[in-house]
Amino acid sequence: MDKLFDLVVIGAGPGGISAAVEASIAGVDNNKIVVLEKSDAHNETVRKFYKHGKRVDVDWNGIKAEFHGHLSFEQGSKEEYIKQFDDIIEKYNLRVVYNHHVYAVEKKDDGIFEIGADKELGVIRAKKVVIAIGVMGKPNKPSYKFPAKIRSVLNFNLDKVQPNEKVMIVGGGDTAGEYAYGLVDMNLGCEVTLNYRKPEITRMNPTNKEIVERYIAEGKIKSKLGVDVEDVEATEDGKVKVNFKDGTSEIYDRVVYALGGTTPTEFLQNCGIKMRDKWTAEHDPKTLETNVEGMYVVGDVVEGAQSIAVAINHGYAAALDLAKKL
Ligand SMILES: Cc1cc2nc3c(=O)[nH]c(=O)nc-3n(C[C@H](O)[C@H](O)[C@H](O)COP(=O)(O)OP(=O)(O)OC[C@H]3O[C@@H](n4cnc5c(N)ncnc54)[C@H](O)[C@@H]3O)c2cc1C
Repeated sequence: MDKLFDLVVIGAGPGGISAAVEASIAGVDNNKIVVLEKSDAHNETVRKFYKHGKRVDVDWNGIKAEFHGHLSFEQGSKEEYIKQFDDIIEKYNLRVVYNHHVYAVEKKDDGIFEIGADKELGVIRAKKVVIAIGVMGKPNKPSYKFPAKIRSVLNFNLDKVQPNEKVMIVGGGDTAGEYAYGLVDMNLGCEVTLNYRKPEITRMNPTNKEIVERYIAEGKIKSKLGVDVEDVEATEDGKVKVNFKDGTSEIYDRVVYALGGTTPTEFLQNCGIKMRDKWTAEHDPKTLETNVEGMYVVGDVVEGAQSIAVAINHGYAAALDLAKKL
């Protein structure tokens, strides 16, 4: 492939796909745009962390969606959402290279970026770079240690849950709520407990809050609200003994943490981007350009978890700016 691109986008989530498509619409030669994605399909965060059939909300995280550019999406299931992005990639003839994990981006003296990855493609060079890698590469963990013996049953999504297990979901946001009632609705015969350190559900959207509260009232979800976890231990037979801060303990087959993700500060700093704090990359809020001229950040990586609509809008803003400057 032509190794000097006008635009290399890192990450094929909504932010990265939007940036690439909008750049093409804004006049950047489509043959000079490439998206590098570490997994074998686009929207890895949605595929990996959204439960099967999840309703993908357009308004999310308390953010009312308004789309500024040419891309948007309709509320529907996880599978319908993925199909909408399949169609976008096809419609705009977007080149996405999968299984291409980018480890570093370096700006050379001639102002061209070199993008280092673990593939045999050699070094890819670009005039402009958009970083759209999200925050779910590193899901948030609690502060206590995970004993090695039970690491396989301390998870960050529902993928490994088996029928009839006793499962505790930890977290107070929408994801925790959706995992808890979603697991009940899967009819696997699991006993589902929702644990959150605060006594009230305050961080879920009204729909999720209503379902979770109703399921708790109906006994479908066991509530362990208002108490934090001190630590976890392995039992002799490989189960999880959860010790709560109120002195009580309970044994579960599996614990699933839904605590969001962490900004990949190391990656950003290795690219030369300054951090304002541990979540926020230095950027111009209008253009998303960072302190490194020609390098942009879009989506969750900008200042922590937001929403698909925000990522799509970021992609548009960055594309307009970089297309103008090429
Ligand atoms: C369980 C859950 C439910 C959610 N539900 C909703 C919802 O209903 N509605 C909503 O609007 N938002 C929802 N969100 C939030 C939404 O998923 C994010 O805000 C959105 O995906 C951010 O988009 P992004 O493009 O910034 O990053 P991501 O979607 O995280 O995409 C990043 C992409 O970059 C790739 N990548 C990462 N590192 C590298 C690398 N080094 N090299 C190459 N590729 C890399 C990843 O594989 C991934 O495909 C939810 C989040 C979670 C975790």
